[in-house]
Amino acid sequence: MIELTNHSSIFIYLGNSFIYKGTVFTRLGIANFVLNYYSMNKSRVIILGAGFAGLQLARRIRNAAYEIILIDQYNFHQFQPLFYQVATARLEPSAISFPLRKVFQREKNIHVRIACVDEIDTQKQVVKTTEGDFEYDHLVLATGCTTNFFGNKNIEQYAFPMKSTIDAIALRNRILLNFEDALNAGPGDIESIMNIVVAGGGPTGVELAGALAEMKKNVLPKDYPDMDFSRLNIYLVEGLHNTLANMSKASQDKSKEYLELLGVNLLVDTLVQDYDGTQITFKDGKTLKTKTLIWTAGVKASVPNGIPKEVMVRGGRIQVDEYSKVKGLSNVFAIGDVAYMETTEWPKGHPQLANVAINQAKNLAANMKNMLQNKELKPFKYKNPGTMATVGKRKAVVDLPSISFQGVFAWLTWMFLHLMLILSVKNKLIIFINWAISYFTNDTTLRLILLPSKKQVELVDEHHFFHEDAVIEK
Ligand SMILES: Cc1cc2nc3c(=O)[nH]c(=O)nc-3n(C[C@H](O)[C@H](O)[C@H](O)COP(=O)(O)OP(=O)(O)OC[C@H]3O[C@@H](n4cnc5c(N)ncnc54)[C@H](O)[C@@H]3O)c2cc1C
Repeated sequence: MIELTNHSSIFIYLGNSFIYKGTVFTRLGIANFVLNYYSMNKSRVIILGAGFAGLQLARRIRNAAYEIILIDQYNFHQFQPLFYQVATARLEPSAISFPLRKVFQREKNIHVRIACVDEIDTQKQVVKTTEGDFEYDHLVLATGCTTNFFGNKNIEQYAFPMKSTIDAIALRNRILLNFEDALNAGPGDIESIMNIVVAGGGPTGVELAGALAEMKKNVLPKDYPDMDFSRLNIYLVEGLHNTLANMSKASQDKSKEYLELLGVNLLVDTLVQDYDGTQITFKDGKTLKTKTLIWTAGVKASVPNGIPKEVMVRGGRIQVDEYSKVKGLSNVFAIGDVAYMETTEWPKGHPQLANVAINQAKNLAANMKNMLQNKELKPFKYKNPGTMATVGKRKAVVDLPSISFQGVFAWLTWMFLHLMLILSVKNKLIIFINWAISYFTNDTTLRLILLPSKKQVELVDEHHFFHEDAVIEK
């Protein structure tokens, strides 16, 4: 046994494990040991999740006197609003995904760790992950949301969610494989192959259904000249009476008109009850054959174990005060989709949007800097800048606080704002060029079916970072 005195800390070596600052570190905990060394003189902040909120926070406090550990299950940040364009082969996954290590290449006090967070011990101030345990002084939960299948195991097993780049690639493979399958399908199978069903008429469902309908009209007949695409049916299923329930009546009506113009079959007041991989059963007993059910019908907060149940509210979100502090925990914060903050202006919490996540991160970053200087903290205030959705080429709907507009100008507004939100200049350019080419040619060039090889599946088995829903199906 070796014993070293390092400043005020004790390091004890016990064969295959270490004791440091009173904590035992196994082989997996060695990375944590290194981080302990780094953060000896600084307060350590652990940020869980490198989505819109986590990434923004890390970037904003990178020059402050904190040692920051940013943990995510993926080694890249994902731009979720454009997942549907990856799923419909319009954009490459790399155009909307940004490697975290590249983003923080020059930051000495930010340590990126790729790990899946399993549990938080708020008493011992430890985050337990698949790659070891990490101690914190301040913890920020920015783990966002995951798909909500409302407890239906069949839907979870057979439907395609769209909550990660990996999901979007799986969906792209499914859609493209459908048409290869259709070439050789017998009369009994063709109907389920040629029906594509999107469940959930929020912005994601509407955008996806519109993109699929444009693919049917402009792209697929050129790729498969010997196939009859009048048999391809795109359905959009919504439980409420209108799609885009959170938008103005004008936007709802216009989006409905656009979808019908594009040939999407809109089923409103309709609830999916069950799905067995080839047939949907609706709540009213009706059925619809399909091999492709895309599930955009709900999300729930992605909360690691260990957060007290009393602070979790509707949708599993974590209740925070107006400084993003988790109720009852002095050094734990939550921002973005995972957080639920009631204010006078937002008595039912803020909407789960990228803009809210980014602004909560900005406010928390300012407060964390204030904390270092014992300055007063600022409460979070959010002004809704508006909502929007695009349905297809030159077709979008925009609701601003004082005005609502639809059509070509709305579509240009949607494109401009999404390009502004994309992280790097290179990616902005790539996306802009892709959009410009497809505007003039009505085509895309990304219709690759990239299925995982045996080696890839083995790699997934070896690495346990991923959440179950991100693991490649065997
Ligand atoms: C398809 C789609 C389209 C959307 N379109 C829009 C839009 O047009 N406009 C808009 O404003 N909003 C849109 N949203 C919502 C927007 O993306 C979210 O509000 C935003 O991503 C929330 O940011 P966040 O940082 O809270 O969470 P996220 O961006 O979801 O980030 C959470 C991060 O935490 C990581 N994570 C989660 N659990 C764990 C764990 N246990 N271990 C390790 N890492 C973990 C995830 O990998 C992820 O990187 C869309 C969402 C989806 C799914």
